[in-house]
Amino acid sequence: MTYDVVVIGCGSAALSAAVNAAEGGARVAVLERAPREERGGNSRYTEAWMRMKSEDEVSDDFIYMFLGDRGHGAVDPNVLKDVSNAYENWAKNTKAWAFNDPELVAALADNAPATMHWLKTHGVQFTFHSPMLLQGGDLRMGPSGGGLAIVESLATSAERLGVEMMYETTGRSLLQTDAGDIRGVRAWSKARGNFAIETRNVVVACGGYEGNIEMMIRYCGANAHLTRPVSPGGVYNKGEGIEMMLAVGAAAAGQYDMFHGEPVDPRSPRHEALIGALNYGILINVGGKRFVDEGANRYEYIYDELSWSVMRQKLGRAHFVFDSRLFDIPNIRTRIKTDHEPIRASSVADFAVKIGVPEAALSSTLAEYNAACPSDGVRDTTKLDGLATRGLTVPKSNWAQPIDVSDLWAYPVMCANTLTCGGVKVTGDAEVLNRDGEPIPGLYAAGETVGLYYNLYIGATSVLRGLVFGRQAARKICAGLGR
Ligand SMILES: Cc1cc2nc3c(=O)[nH]c(=O)nc-3n(C[C@H](O)[C@H](O)[C@H](O)COP(=O)(O)OP(=O)(O)OC[C@H]3O[C@@H](n4cnc5c(N)ncnc54)[C@H](O)[C@@H]3O)c2cc1C
Repeated sequence: MTYDVVVIGCGSAALSAAVNAAEGGARVAVLERAPREERGGNSRYTEAWMRMKSEDEVSDDFIYMFLGDRGHGAVDPNVLKDVSNAYENWAKNTKAWAFNDPELVAALADNAPATMHWLKTHGVQFTFHSPMLLQGGDLRMGPSGGGLAIVESLATSAERLGVEMMYETTGRSLLQTDAGDIRGVRAWSKARGNFAIETRNVVVACGGYEGNIEMMIRYCGANAHLTRPVSPGGVYNKGEGIEMMLAVGAAAAGQYDMFHGEPVDPRSPRHEALIGALNYGILINVGGKRFVDEGANRYEYIYDELSWSVMRQKLGRAHFVFDSRLFDIPNIRTRIKTDHEPIRASSVADFAVKIGVPEAALSSTLAEYNAACPSDGVRDTTKLDGLATRGLTVPKSNWAQPIDVSDLWAYPVMCANTLTCGGVKVTGDAEVLNRDGEPIPGLYAAGETVGLYYNLYIGATSVLRGLVFGRQAARKICAGLGR
């Protein structure tokens, strides 16, 4: 059978593409590596917060976060000059350059409201919450029931619309005509072995490489083997989508050596067993030493850096150390999602044994830290409070408060990998660009396969990226089919 569109993946990005394309009259097949009951990749496990202040508007800081200082790699000034021209007049190197071009960011922001309204037509409702990771700031929007609600609503719609859902089927490579147009996908399943599917349009939406240790180490370097996907869904994402697009000449985009890290409790089998309070205590490595400024900025700006710094330590492990006053912080328990109890001790000696670090090193670390904390000033956890240590080689710039050594608490932490940031360059219509800045005919990308993040993962934008560019791809394909 020939399909108008083959969508590789079955998360929020893929399902957005598949359902929109089917609604547009296309014959669609979805390839999902996971079994039906585990369909949906990372999208199945996320709370799916979106950087939107209402269904009709993205948040005020949305454009700035992508196009401001942090949102890019190193951009040649000639590239920046070029983007003030109309897109069709950009030089090919500008179109293919790995940076967040304003066309792409505008397409994401402009199409977000319509995408949210479309999602509602499939039964998804939205709710607003004060995001747990922020100290104050805007509310975030999210689907009631999280990403699972998105996956199950859209997958049900896909089935109703006659999309052929091929579970336990892995997309492996792209087939092209001699002229370079897409002509199919080579796939594999246990039942069929290798087989080819004919189609003139492929949407590659099968996630990043968080579930592929070889690619994690290749791109993210030393100690990347000491992270693990933060959800069971991420384990299915082994990077083939990105590799198959690069193999046909797609332009790379996004920071390949970066992933969105989260500090989790290594003891817990739960997905996202978050220990999201590191900025209010200190981190101690297996040598009994501090190694990072735990209070360098608002948590949302440093959670990646803190998590990566844990990964770089010996064994990729550390302990988050605090005293019981941590629990006086309003709502702090919503930021700690492990199902394991903290470790407690009433003396440094006992604590050192329990967390497995040398007592002498731990004792001097705690003494030096406590002595360096300001003796006056009241900790204010709602903002950068400027309570900084003085004279330490590894400072703590905010929320520095002595730790009561007769009331010691700790959670073990490791760095989990939420999503990887390397992907391909697309247009605002999700067309994959080649390294000469031209669309590869018939090839589209959505979700984690799209390179969008540099320096920092911009919180609450990944699900949105998938839904929007999945829809954009479908609309472009259907327009080409003349339906
Ligand atoms: C616990 C957690 C919390 C998060 N919180 C947020 C949040 O609040 N807001 C936010 O925006 N983002 C959040 N994220 C990130 C976000 O959920 C993901 O980046 C996003 O859902 C990815 O969507 P996707 O469709 O690109 O990939 P996925 O949802 O991961 O889907 C990929 C799909 O492809 C399939 N697949 C993989 N390889 C192949 C192959 N070769 N062939 C066929 N199928 C394949 C997988 O099985 C899966 O179905 C969170 C992630 C997690 C895990």
